[in-house]
Amino acid sequence: MSDKFPLTVLNEEYGESAYHPLIQPIHSAITTLAEELATPAFETTIIMSGNLTASVDRRGKEKDFSPERLGGQVAGKTFPVDPTDYSRVDVILDAGMMAPDPDGLQQGMFVHLLAHELGHAVIGRQRTTCGDAPTAQRNDPSGMAGVYGLEVVDEWRCDRLADIVLGGMVTAEVVDGEPVPARYGYLVPDSGQAELRQILDQAVHPAWPELVWSYRVGQTDLASMWEKLQEQTKQVFVCLAHAEAKALGAGQPSPLSQVAGHLGADLYLSPAWSRIMQVVEPQPILSHHSEFHTHQNEVFRVCQSAIAHMWACLGITRRPTDDGQVYLDVTEPME
Ligand SMILES: [Zn+2]
Repeated sequence: MSDKFPLTVLNEEYGESAYHPLIQPIHSAITTLAEELATPAFETTIIMSGNLTASVDRRGKEKDFSPERLGGQVAGKTFPVDPTDYSRVDVILDAGMMAPDPDGLQQGMFVHLLAHELGHAVIGRQRTTCGDAPTAQRNDPSGMAGVYGLEVVDEWRCDRLADIVLGGMVTAEVVDGEPVPARYGYLVPDSGQAELRQILDQAVHPAWPELVWSYRVGQTDLASMWEKLQEQTKQVFVCLAHAEAKALGAGQPSPLSQVAGHLGADLYLSPAWSRIMQVVEPQPILSHHSEFHTHQNEVFRVCQSAIAHMWACLGITRRPTDDGQVYLDVTEPME
């Protein structure tokens, strides 16, 4: 075990399992990469939890934590012990959801999950040691678009990274019975597109323009409408990032391109996503420490403009006031 990246494994409401022998090799793959990227040292505690909510609550890191999300459930959670430096990180995995006697598929999904969470640890450590992270006022659409965009791109990066770790540890049979490095998209084919279509129907169109209209006709107040739209934007783009990264890793067509024609995709998600990916895809999946700050600023800026433009299509724009505040303008959404 590395001195620079020590690892502790804890079981909470959970016993030793067939997954445990996989933990150290996954951690080792990620920290080898972290070392190559000149990531400063950090300590990891991996908690195999039989009760995710209880394990998260016990650490007091997230108020009213619930694993439910648009498009599914959270299976793991990565928290810095001190959010300002990520020198110690807790990775909590929902072991209660995992099959007690895993087959190859379930082991592969575990590798992907843990590698993904450890990717967050590396990114968090890089981010908090490379200079000031961009911040924003909650009522400023452009700034918040950048902040959410960074979170969304982190999810994409962690999935891409997890696929590489998975391929290094597990093989899959795709064509002619020849074993090839596994990818999430081989293990769980076509998951992204169906999920994305469901989210578009359920949460994006007509839901987003209707939400804006509900404010315009006085059925909801500005703050509630704006909070809800921001939260949903983040969750929808996180689902999109997972779907796109998994398909890309497996050489499958983009799930977003396959839902073309859905107004939620055509008006809102596709224009924003394609602009963001034009900046993200040419960058390394994880940046070297010396380049992290520059790459992050490039991503922040493109997300600012791409997501703020999407909100503008929904009728929401910002106007600075004379006293240095931001005023939200709400006009008719494009639908
Ligand atoms: Zn994640």
